[in-house]
Amino acid sequence: MEDCIFCKLANGEIPTEIVYEDEFVAAFKDLNPQAPIHILVVPKKHYDNVMQVEENDDIIAKIYSAINKIAKKENFAENGFRVINNCGKDAGQTVMHMHFHVIAGKTLGDKIL
Ligand code: AMP
Ligand code: ZN
Repeated sequence: MEDCIFCKLANGEIPTEIVYEDEFVAAFKDLNPQAPIHILVVPKKHYDNVMQVEENDDIIAKIYSAINKIAKKENFAENGFRVINNCGKDAGQTVMHMHFHVIAGKTLGDKIL
């Protein structure tokens, strides 16, 4: 996808500090962190959002497997964390490359659910 900032960050076209990567998934720090740890976990392939994930695609499993590894590597597995995905307009999605916010490092604010 041309001119997609997260495609470029995930595939190394724009240099950034990569927290984790494998063949399918990359993770980097959010520019505007909402907690001491705020990591964005994204597929290397472009999806606008979750609505483009097809029935037999295992990318979401790969993303959660990456989150599991990141939590251990960055030492926040024990205290816990929150994963947030905004999909589309009403959720306020601003970057149209599917991403999962992983926030941790403090007692997090009120739960919505
Ligand atoms: P969302 O509102 O769920 O679409 O979240 C987009 C997130 O991307 C926000 O938390 C932004 O701070 C973050 N963001 C935007 N541009 C960059 C960038 N170049 N590097 C890292 N994070 C970014
Ligand atoms: Zn993209």
